[in-house]
Amino acid sequence: MPNQKMSVEAIKDGTVIDHIPAGQGLAILRQFKLLHYGSAVTVGFNLPSKSAGSKDIIKIANVHLDDAAANRLALFAPNATVNVIADFAVVAKKALTLPDTISEVFRCPNPQCASHGEPVASRFYVREKHGSTRLKCHYCEKTYARETVAEA
Ligand SMILES: [Zn+2]
Repeated sequence: MPNQKMSVEAIKDGTVIDHIPAGQGLAILRQFKLLHYGSAVTVGFNLPSKSAGSKDIIKIANVHLDDAAANRLALFAPNATVNVIADFAVVAKKALTLPDTISEVFRCPNPQCASHGEPVASRFYVREKHGSTRLKCHYCEKTYARETVAEA
């Protein structure tokens, strides 16, 4: 715990996304355009984690994720924690809830799907089954495990 607290205290104001599964940090940086704010971003890869072996962590100064973004984050890192930092202290921890639907972020793996070739945004219904996230395509109605669906 003391170590965890120290890493969180490193920024004055902003957001710390902790307990990202090791290897997902880069995808999250890209998907949430965290470098586009022009704020200081600190990323740790493969840090030791008591619960999951290793983890990634992202710290962003002066940026706060809204609830929609936090829920989108749940699709990449369901067990991540989003800490809101103010004046070097954790003032809130956002609970992540899977969104009901997700548009544009993912690409349907079905090559026959009507979402390809058309100027339409992908759209999936999100479900959790036996602890894993499943995405059902709005267009072809096929269901895929989250891990098998690539980003758009
Ligand atoms: Zn589809």
